[in-house]
Amino acid sequence: MLTRNNIIFSLAILVIVLTTGQQIISTALMQQARAQTSQSAGTKNGGGKTAVSSVTTAVADQDLKNKPAEYWKSKLSPEAYHVTREKGTEQAFTGAYYNNHKDGNYYCTNCGALLFSSGTKFESGTGWPSFYKPASGSAVATDSDGSLGMQRTEVVCSRCGAHLGHVFDDGPQPTGLRYCINSCALNFKAQAAKTSSNGK
Ligand SMILES: [Zn+2]
Repeated sequence: MLTRNNIIFSLAILVIVLTTGQQIISTALMQQARAQTSQSAGTKNGGGKTAVSSVTTAVADQDLKNKPAEYWKSKLSPEAYHVTREKGTEQAFTGAYYNNHKDGNYYCTNCGALLFSSGTKFESGTGWPSFYKPASGSAVATDSDGSLGMQRTEVVCSRCGAHLGHVFDDGPQPTGLRYCINSCALNFKAQAAKTSSNGK
């Protein structure tokens, strides 16, 4: 009887080991198949390229968020480092862009991601460049900030985690939001003037 029990026990273990092994193998195969599908889609048409490049971007973004302080110190001016990496605030009316009225786009000084566009910039009178909307829904991320005895909402670059400024709910329509951003967190690139349809 003891021997039979032993055999049954051994068989049970064998079944468990086989099942687990099969699951691991089939999961790995499925992942491989998925990767191949998105890659072949990428070579066949433009649509799949987004899938592949977005995976690459995700890896790079994670890498950017894990960079040591030395990396950013070597890349940024001392002021930009203090503001974007130590959550500082530049003095009002001192930045390069609070009074900038040119057409163009504002990019992250840390990683180059497109953050804001001149079309949503408005005169807030605060001395910091102010926008009512980011360039895209995923360009910036927010976090609650209880520092300096105030409850504010911090705005960060969603790609590299750079501190950009804060967002308040006293902005103009259509969003009612005021993204109050430090100039030294931004790099402005002017856009060529749009040619109007009436030839002017
Ligand atoms: Zn960034």
